[in-house]
Amino acid sequence: MENPRLEHVFVVGSSIAGVRACGGLRAEGFEGGITLIGSETHQPYDRPPLSKKVLSGEWEPDRIALVRPEELDKLQLQLRLGVPAVALSTAERTLTLRDGSTLSYDGLVLATGAATRRLPDQLEHDSVFELRTLDDSLALRSRIDAGGLRVTIIGAGFIGLEVAATARALGNEVVVLEGAPAPLTRGLGADMGRAVTLLHADNGVPVRCGVQVVRIEETDSGQHGGALIVRLGDGEVVASDLIVVGIGVTPVTGWLEGSGLELRDGIVCDATLNAGPIGVYAAGDVARWPNAQFDGEEMRVEHWTNASEQGLIAARNMLAVARGDEPEPYNSVPFFWSEQYGVRIQFLGRAAGDDDIRIVKGSVEERSFLALYGSNGVLRGALGVAMAKPVMQCRRLLLDRLSFEDAVAAASAF
Ligand SMILES: Cc1cc2nc3c(=O)[nH]c(=O)nc-3n(C[C@H](O)[C@H](O)[C@H](O)COP(=O)(O)OP(=O)(O)OC[C@H]3O[C@@H](n4cnc5c(N)ncnc54)[C@H](O)[C@@H]3O)c2cc1C
Repeated sequence: MENPRLEHVFVVGSSIAGVRACGGLRAEGFEGGITLIGSETHQPYDRPPLSKKVLSGEWEPDRIALVRPEELDKLQLQLRLGVPAVALSTAERTLTLRDGSTLSYDGLVLATGAATRRLPDQLEHDSVFELRTLDDSLALRSRIDAGGLRVTIIGAGFIGLEVAATARALGNEVVVLEGAPAPLTRGLGADMGRAVTLLHADNGVPVRCGVQVVRIEETDSGQHGGALIVRLGDGEVVASDLIVVGIGVTPVTGWLEGSGLELRDGIVCDATLNAGPIGVYAAGDVARWPNAQFDGEEMRVEHWTNASEQGLIAARNMLAVARGDEPEPYNSVPFFWSEQYGVRIQFLGRAAGDDDIRIVKGSVEERSFLALYGSNGVLRGALGVAMAKPVMQCRRLLLDRLSFEDAVAAASAF
């Protein structure tokens, strides 16, 4: 099939990956039409502060705009906010929106991100929260900001732990319940997950692991001294005034069933983020691609930097292919950061369950350390807790795919 002329590009998903894709198209000189389509009615905003400075009340929503109004004008975007895309036909090259409009695209960037996972039959209640959107964050903030509540967090992933830290700092009594034997196992491995949660113990927040949450129940008023309980597998109940469910996310691909795209825990892409058909790319939390930096391991990454970079690369590659040039593969060292009780936690690379982990600077006892992760004798990851500069210096070592021992020697000198 011949490359279609790129006259109009549609970008679905008005968050970081989508906005970066729009910026990337213009930065590369694309002068055609760009329409940015988003389910949410808000102007594009940034999510990381939703569990941190926005939730704590330190920042108001105007601080988290992803594009300032004057930049929006420069980008010359047509915005279709509050109107989700509901269907895609890659055979017809059309996109259908919920308002019934059908749009013909030349180029398409799919950046629909991820949505919160829920407990089976999760109780609908105004004191049971999830956290993904600005509205979620503001609603939760209005409940916890006065302090004095018993807040139960279900799930000790990064978002659950950040909410725990913020809720605690606002003067609430907080407990975190986690089904796995250790927190943050997927992101950091069990030992380092435990090390990070010591920060919570220091701040009076128990992180209880290996507990099975059966369900959330509403109680008759007065019983258990609270409106809600979390019932655990061993029969124990955790009385709660407010519950936050933070058990992870799933990529938003339901609307793409029957589109002709391959969907497997995300939109399956090649190394250049092309989702199969000419001109169709995916970026951000929704994209799954083989990362040559990790021997072509197929990954889907749920972090801000990945979404930002992929938005740009998707745009650049769409234009390159349309010009007849070679697109570039997205080879990257994944990176994320978190902030809990004022301590910055940063991780570069990939953790696997059986990694060799070595602390090369500081110590867990000091709550400040740099740990390296190795597998098969090769460096795979670096974790910094209150070690902002040294951990970022490890990026070079990861890009160079140093042997684990050489990396340990190099990082000890950072
Ligand atoms: C509370 C919170 C804190 C976080 N903190 C950090 C952090 O500290 N560090 C870090 O690295 N990462 C953090 N993250 C993760 C980071 O924010 C995400 O990786 C990033 O937002 C992913 O961007 P995205 O553009 O791919 O998708 P998303 O941000 O999920 O955005 C997708 C957008 O697409 C819209 N959409 C979905 N379906 C449709 C449709 N059919 N039609 C139109 N629009 C649609 C959605 O409504 C949404 O606005 C945090 C996330 C949250 C929720």
